[in-house]
Parts: sequence; structure tokens; C-alpha cells
Amino acid sequence: MTLDTLGDATARGAVSLRHLTKSFTLNGQPLPVLRNLSLDIRGGESLAIVGPSGCGKTTLLRLLAGLESADGGQVLIDGAPVTGVGTERAVIYQEPRLLPWLTVLENVAFGLEVRGLPRGAARDRARRHVRLVGLSDFETAYPRQLSGGMAQRVGIARALAVQPEILLLDEPLGALDAMTKLTMQEELARIWHEEKVTMILVTHDLEEAIFLADRVLVLSADGTPPAVIPVDLPRPRDRNTGDFVRMRR
Ligand code: ADP
Repeated sequence: MTLDTLGDATARGAVSLRHLTKSFTLNGQPLPVLRNLSLDIRGGESLAIVGPSGCGKTTLLRLLAGLESADGGQVLIDGAPVTGVGTERAVIYQEPRLLPWLTVLENVAFGLEVRGLPRGAARDRARRHVRLVGLSDFETAYPRQLSGGMAQRVGIARALAVQPEILLLDEPLGALDAMTKLTMQEELARIWHEEKVTMILVTHDLEEAIFLADRVLVLSADGTPPAVIPVDLPRPRDRNTGDFVRMRR
């Protein structure tokens, strides 16, 4: 089946799923998880993926990340088929898994240095992203000195520092307390707007999906075809500036 297309699928960070099929094996029997899923996500769009536990949300995100391979079909990024991982995509998990022996700044710079950026340039870019997530005062702190929300902010800075076109988030706020979660939802909305990335977010939280996404992809666990629901609600306002948090681009 082909789900509807919204906007411009040719902008940077556009993702096309073409007839994606994926099964696992359970007790010797095939367990179909994704059945012929086709969907176009435009560059800069924010898409939330929701559905009951076990419906295939994480599997779809892993396919998009290139961490899992499909049985059939293709993932295209900016029109080109992708198979493995690539720097145009960054993944953020529920736990940021920071390196405990490195400071905040070093954690963010680490991935850049591994990719060959000279130390000074890596630190400069890391500093900009640490500032973006509001942690400039904590550049020299170690992960053990951070709260859960702060650690997740570092994880977001680390992902953004590689300047991906597409941010893939798997329950990124799932481990945080309710208040921190609300703050972080606003942070994510602001970052998504400022960084002009495509955001694909797996969440259990329907309110979060509606707050953050342009469209919500609803998967089912029983083989019912997925649905895509556009979100068209009044935008919440930033509590500091009074601006609408989610501005359309
Ligand atoms: P969700 O993220 O929606 O909870 P998942 O994508 O994690 O769902 O899993 C979808 C289904 O695929 C589940 O039934 C799960 O048990 C199964 N599954 C996921 N990964 C594997 C795997 N590596 N091997 C076997 N079964 C798997």
C-alpha cells in the first residue's frame, strides 16, 4: 500500500520507504512485522511513529538507521537507496550511553575526532552544540554529575554535532520524569526548528507525538494497514518568549 505524500519529497533529508517488508522468526514460524510499507517523508518534516508494543516501531527505526536490513523493499534518502549506516542519519536512544571518563564537551567532540576532524575543530563544533542544548556551563562536567535530562541533552548534542540531515529518535524521553520530559519536548521542538533536520521519532506518548510531529504514523500489531495522520492543531507557546514553539517551515 502507498500512504499519502506531504509536501516536497525532494528537499535534503527526504526519506522514501518503498514496499518495506520485514519478518522475524518466532518458534520456527515467520513473524511478519512490516508488510509492504511505503511512505514519503519530506526533508525537514517531523514524523512520529506510534502503535502498541511489539508493532514494529523500533524495527522500522533500525531499518531507517541501517542497523537492520529489510527482507524486501528499499529505503531511499534524498532519492538514493541506502543499505548500511551513514553520517546523514543520527540515532538517539532512550539512554544516551555517554562515555563516563570523558567530559560533556569531550563526549560530544569524540565522534567528530573519530571521523577525522582535528581536535580543535571538533571541540569548536562540539561547543556550539553543547550551547544549543543549554549546557555551556557544564562543558567540563562528567556524566556522573548530570541529571537524566542533562545527560539526554548531551546525547542530543552529540547526535547533532555530526550534522545529520535526519534525526532518528527511539523513545528519547522515555526514561525521564514527567517535568523534565515536558521541558525536553520543548527543547526538541526548538532544536528541530533551528537545525532544520528531518525528525523521525518513535514514542509511546500520543501527546508527545502530536506536540512534536507534522504527521503521525500509526502501526498496528495485528496486520491492520498502517495509517498516517496529519497533525493540525494550534501551536503551543514557548513559556519564556511567548512564541509559538512549533513554527512551520
Ligand atoms: P516495538 O518497538 O513497536 O515495541 P519492535 O520493533 O521492537 O516493536 O518488535 C516488533 C516485533 O518483532 C516484536 O514481536 C518483537 O518481539 C520482534 N522482534 C524484534 N526484533 C527481533 C529480533 N532481533 N529477533 C526476533 N524477533 C524480533
